[in-house]
Amino acid sequence: MSQHAETSNLTGSCLCGAVRFRVQGQPLRFYHCHCQRCRKANGTGHATNLLLETSGDVEWISGAELIQRFKVPDAERFSTAFCTTCGSPLPRYYAARGFTVIPAGVLDSEPPIMPQARIFFGSRAAWSCADDVLPVHDTYAPTT
Ligand SMILES: [Zn+2]
Ligand SMILES: [Zn+2]
Repeated sequence: MSQHAETSNLTGSCLCGAVRFRVQGQPLRFYHCHCQRCRKANGTGHATNLLLETSGDVEWISGAELIQRFKVPDAERFSTAFCTTCGSPLPRYYAARGFTVIPAGVLDSEPPIMPQARIFFGSRAAWSCADDVLPVHDTYAPTT
């Protein structure tokens, strides 16, 4: 399922508008993740995350000092970033893996690709939406 889309230049901002960012990279994956951690982090039935292959951190245009990061202590790598004023989730750069995870809802640009699958569908909440034709995976999607 790998796609060779053009390099994307995306911008986004948090709910209060204090944090604004720009991120550039190649779109890798775009998933709805139904895992419990994503539900807790977002307060919704699933997170919707766009993964971009990036060569460096997000460019914070404003509000970088307002960003708080949190890593789940017993998770291998699950972490969140959010605006401490309004709580909007924000992009996270994973240097070791060379990608940035962008919560799609904070984008002000159109995402370069459309959602491809629902992952961790095996642990979804019964009330979570899923009325579409996207493939579903019990945990991670098979890597391509
Ligand atoms: Zn904010
Ligand atoms: Zn998740």
